Amino acid sequence: MTPHADPAKGAAVKAADRAHVFHSWSAQELIDPLAVAGAEGAHFWDYEGNRYLDFTSGLVYTNIGYQHPKVVTAVQEQAGRLATFAPAFAIDVRSEAARLIAERTPGDLDKIFFTNGGAEAVENAARMARVHTGRPKILSAYRSYHGATAAAINLTGDPRRWASDNGSAGVVRFWAPFLYRSPFYAKTEEQECARALRHLEDTIAYEGPQSIAAIILETIPGTAGIMVPPPGYLPGVREICDRYGIVLVLDEVMAGFGRTGTWFAAEHFDVVPDLLTFAKGVNSGYVPLGGVAISGEIADTFARRPYPGGLTYSGHPLACAAAVATIDVMAEEGVVEHAARIGRDVLGPGLRDLADRHPSVGEVRGLGAFWALELVRDPDTREPLVPYNASGEANAPMTAFATACKKSGLWPFINMNRTHVVPACNISETEAKDGLTLLDEALTVADAHL
Ligand code: PMP
Repeated sequence: MTPHADPAKGAAVKAADRAHVFHSWSAQELIDPLAVAGAEGAHFWDYEGNRYLDFTSGLVYTNIGYQHPKVVTAVQEQAGRLATFAPAFAIDVRSEAARLIAERTPGDLDKIFFTNGGAEAVENAARMARVHTGRPKILSAYRSYHGATAAAINLTGDPRRWASDNGSAGVVRFWAPFLYRSPFYAKTEEQECARALRHLEDTIAYEGPQSIAAIILETIPGTAGIMVPPPGYLPGVREICDRYGIVLVLDEVMAGFGRTGTWFAAEHFDVVPDLLTFAKGVNSGYVPLGGVAISGEIADTFARRPYPGGLTYSGHPLACAAAVATIDVMAEEGVVEHAARIGRDVLGPGLRDLADRHPSVGEVRGLGAFWALELVRDPDTREPLVPYNASGEANAPMTAFATACKKSGLWPFINMNRTHVVPACNISETEAKDGLTLLDEALTVADAHL
């Protein structure tokens, strides 16, 4: 399918959307969703005939791009064979998806509990940790996002939780390392790491280790700003968890399945969690799927005692068929290695070059197909380009930057004062370079606010 203009159809699609679709995270009358006509690979297009390079990969999930023929065919064939079957039965495609995932997750995370997405994975990881330990509390980081269902939004640290926060029963938040805006006034990565670990130890000591079921962390926090932790941090957290019998949950809903240039981001730090949550990239989002990969020890807790949780569509055959096909494609086409290479050779150097030439870029962070540019008003004071959690007029500089990107044919991922560069993991070198050129032009709009 290629773009062709059909503005009348676009207007009809938009009108129908406006009439009946209630959109996530939005003031319904203040949004103007683009009517999308189609998508392929790293691009999508609208009904006006405009084509966009997608630097968001949806919501950071189309890791192998849109409409990969092998995944589309696998879903079609599964629908013809067995479109649905309840989770209590053994189904070939479900056990195959579980095997392929378990083989790729680190360490002994060999049992897979399937969910429909990331938040449900986090919900169930929290439940598993609490039942396994018999303890009530979970520690989570301020700069984090874990999903929008009840427990997941309480475990979330960033402002998206504010409206739903019921007092966050059983959740204690702490600061994870982030040198650029260090909560610990550290000057070096080593200092930041040591102080963050000491802060975590102090938090545990004052909460009482016997009351803490789990520590949950995004291995590399995603929507909160792609802060790659110092090398020693996660091994240090692992050691603290072992010392106190606390379950370590690593949330890889965004960072997993090739995004960072390894199958899972935990590999960069040589850390094995007790529970690992995944979704998004597991099947590039062609059919909703998520899950929890479970260690042998936690799986044993539920060997002769029922696990108190479940979902009607757990391990849905269509979603599992998409996962099997996606993982096959990633292996056959070397997508994980490609993401590592494109990060190292194209996106990393290209974004650092933009930072050198645009004073509005305060910091570039990331790896693989997982990058963030922190936009600032003043590079010396690091004052963000827009105030924390700004909206409306206060957010105008970021809105102007986003509009400039879209006009040039680049669809940007914007969060607060940052733009994230999170394209499909199999984006070609030419596409990645084209995107950097478009970003270069749009950053002059941000520079104008200095
Ligand atoms: N955890 C992380 C790290 C995420 O990035 C997200 C979604 N952005 C979620 C959990 C929630 O996933 P979902 O939207 O599929 O419920």
